[in-house]
Amino acid sequence: MRCASLDEVLATIARFDHEREHYPFETDGVVVKIDSYRQHGVLGETAKFPRWAVAYKFPAERARTVVQSIEIQVGRTGAVTPVANLDPVLLGGTTVSRASLHNFEQVATLDVRVGDTVEIEKAGEIIPQVMSVIVEKRPADAAAFVVPTACPECGGALFRDAGEVALRCTNARCPAIVTAAIHYYARRFAMDIDNLGHVLVTELVKKGLVADVADLYDLDVPKVAALPRMAKKSAENVLKAIAGSKERTFDRLLCALGIPQIGQVAAKQLAEVLPSLDEALSLGAEGVAERAGHIHGFGPAMIDALRAYFADPASRSILDKLHARGVSRPFQPAQAATTGPLLDKSFCVTGVLTKKREEVHEDIRNAGGTVHDSVKAGTTYLVAGDKTGASKLEAAKKRGTQVIDEAQLYALIAGG
Ligand SMILES: [Zn+2]
Repeated sequence: MRCASLDEVLATIARFDHEREHYPFETDGVVVKIDSYRQHGVLGETAKFPRWAVAYKFPAERARTVVQSIEIQVGRTGAVTPVANLDPVLLGGTTVSRASLHNFEQVATLDVRVGDTVEIEKAGEIIPQVMSVIVEKRPADAAAFVVPTACPECGGALFRDAGEVALRCTNARCPAIVTAAIHYYARRFAMDIDNLGHVLVTELVKKGLVADVADLYDLDVPKVAALPRMAKKSAENVLKAIAGSKERTFDRLLCALGIPQIGQVAAKQLAEVLPSLDEALSLGAEGVAERAGHIHGFGPAMIDALRAYFADPASRSILDKLHARGVSRPFQPAQAATTGPLLDKSFCVTGVLTKKREEVHEDIRNAGGTVHDSVKAGTTYLVAGDKTGASKLEAAKKRGTQVIDEAQLYALIAGG
């Protein structure tokens, strides 16, 4: 949209702000740029940004509604968080009936009470949050919210970690935690168990059929078929999917266990130096921590989290059960190719590329190259996609690493 004057710019922004609720995508602002290259030169730039381009943020949309109840949710890590259930209200084109309250300190600071009229806002147009309370509209009988001391799901005591705001249920048998852990275990990027949806998991835990992820492998058709909304055929499908998950490689299992600090990428890196459950169990907590200590990019917090997980008798018992049931195959670190156009060359891939980062890594390795996850001494090439950070480019410059783009990489792979 081209504007000839500042007034036109302001009018255009107002129009976008008005029309954006009908767009099929979410927006939070517009960028105003000056066309003239001569003026770019005149305006110059600050340390970080040019002065001829400005990001304008639309004011966040707000709405008023009434708090029906304050619900307490228990997450996979046991963190207990308050959520406000609201009278449904239209905000930014969608009907909103829940809003985040973040933590109990936030509830106390805002003094949110059931029955209160509150102002909610969509932060970055994602999850709405409660911003303020309209105290004048408070009903006379609205009682101040009392922070729970016991877990709403299992009745166990709640603890606050040193230096943390969140309250936590630490009962490993808490049904809410077990349900969330199993749900996570089954996710596509983890053990990828089809047909094991949230409703079924909740039911399995409630009926006492599973108390941890390893119990999934002890289920049988009659037990599952007897659950609500299940039949013989659907039970068979679920069990087939569960049995099939035994074939996942150890890196997937490491990720699926939900060890704090260990996500998909870290799990794969760890499996490269620790390829099987068998080996992890025989090494024990100290041995696992020692191996992890050699991984580039594994900081003390990650190593401590691994040590704590493998030393914890509760997780050790789950790992032993999984092992006894034959869950997970050893991870096969990609065989380093001994020939190929990229032999003796090393690459760090960064930024947004047309292919997934893992696929690019795979292509480099298949062509005989090695992959570094950061630019270090001896890295031959930095493959820079869109949005490459300035620090990466600086590191490349400092270390004499040549910067190339995706097309140039594939030209090298093609032998160009
Ligand atoms: Zn609990």
